[in-house]
Amino acid sequence: MNENCIFCKIIKGEIPSNKVYEDDEILAFKDINPAAPIHVLVIPKKHIKSLAKMEDGEGKIISKIYKVINEIAEKQGFKEKGYRVIVNCGKDGGQEVGHLHFHLLAGKQLGEKIV
Ligand code: AMP
Ligand code: ZN
Repeated sequence: MNENCIFCKIIKGEIPSNKVYEDDEILAFKDINPAAPIHVLVIPKKHIKSLAKMEDGEGKIISKIYKVINEIAEKQGFKEKGYRVIVNCGKDGGQEVGHLHFHLLAGKQLGEKIV
């Protein structure tokens, strides 16, 4: 946990969030400023600053996060239609919150592809 981290505060319940999924290691909640009809942030409860700051042994959480993403897609009924997962990393990647998070976007034909 990091005292100054907004997502750690959400995990602790100090800042309210609209939760979509929670277990002992992972939390998923609705993005406050959605970029698509469905915009969920999936985060590890452990404070990992970014993809670039991951340490040995932390990789397992990534596969678990993708499993959770598929579970959310299944439950919310957009698994077949499709979705996009984005991880912004560091300054050039446009990361604004320094706690690793996966953007899960769905609910429309997503535009503005850069890759
Ligand atoms: P990034 O630019 O990849 O670091 O994404 C940070 C995301 O966190 C943005 O999409 C914000 O809209 C979202 N965000 C910031 N504060 C909150 C909050 N309190 N609850 C939900 N989402 C938030
Ligand atoms: Zn944090």
